[in-house]
Amino acid sequence: MPRKKKTEESQQSADKKPKKKLSSKEKYVDPNVIIDEYLDEVINSLGLAYLNLEREEFKELIKEPFAAAVGEVKTKPKARTIINRLQANRDSLMEFLALKLLRIKDLDKMTDEQLEFVVYNIKSAIKDLGPRLYEELVKRNRQDLIDFLRSTWATYGINSPIECPRCKFNAIMPDLSCYICKYIISMKQLKEEIHVIDLLIDYSKVDPEGFKEIISSGYFYYSWSGVSPPSKMPKNDPLVFEIVLNKDEKEKLKSYYNVGNTPPH
Ligand SMILES: [Zn+2]
Repeated sequence: MPRKKKTEESQQSADKKPKKKLSSKEKYVDPNVIIDEYLDEVINSLGLAYLNLEREEFKELIKEPFAAAVGEVKTKPKARTIINRLQANRDSLMEFLALKLLRIKDLDKMTDEQLEFVVYNIKSAIKDLGPRLYEELVKRNRQDLIDFLRSTWATYGINSPIECPRCKFNAIMPDLSCYICKYIISMKQLKEEIHVIDLLIDYSKVDPEGFKEIISSGYFYYSWSGVSPPSKMPKNDPLVFEIVLNKDEKEKLKSYYNVGNTPPH
């Protein structure tokens, strides 16, 4: 009987295959199948309906976390179970979805609601996305979202001790460019920003030796740890600024030094 033979053969070949799991895997619930049935409920329960995506886009947006929430099960979980699992880690879920949305839609084609969702949820991805988001928000004149982005930067970004005079993010890098808005700060502006003379006079009171070194070498380092003389460059600080004093500043500091301390020999 050819029919029986065929069954036997296929069984045999299935058994011989090293991936025995293949046959049992078929019994697991396929998340890609049930996502169609549950999509509306999941999107509504997570409060994402206002993103107004196409049905296929919503599916694309949520499919990985949805599959993870379904897990490897042989009986179909209830929608509520899946939603509860998704809600359990809401913050990181939203962060993931914000990044996913950026892959589905171009930033400049997003609705205001979609852009808001991204800004409110990106967290540490601001290190990569901050400049693009800032640019888009300026284009749309969304000062409120720029303010939110600035606070996200302060928490998750590459927080610089120097604030940018243009975008007001703490984002001036040691090459004097702003990471967020690309503005280039002048050395003069940077010195104004840190109040260089007052800063060094205060420093002279806690470290007179370091102050002397700065005056004689004509430069110092500035970082989150404050002022450091050339011989004590902060090694563990990722953002260190080298600040060169001009003649005028050196004269001012020297005269302070001569008046307030014992004269140099
Ligand atoms: Zn800036």
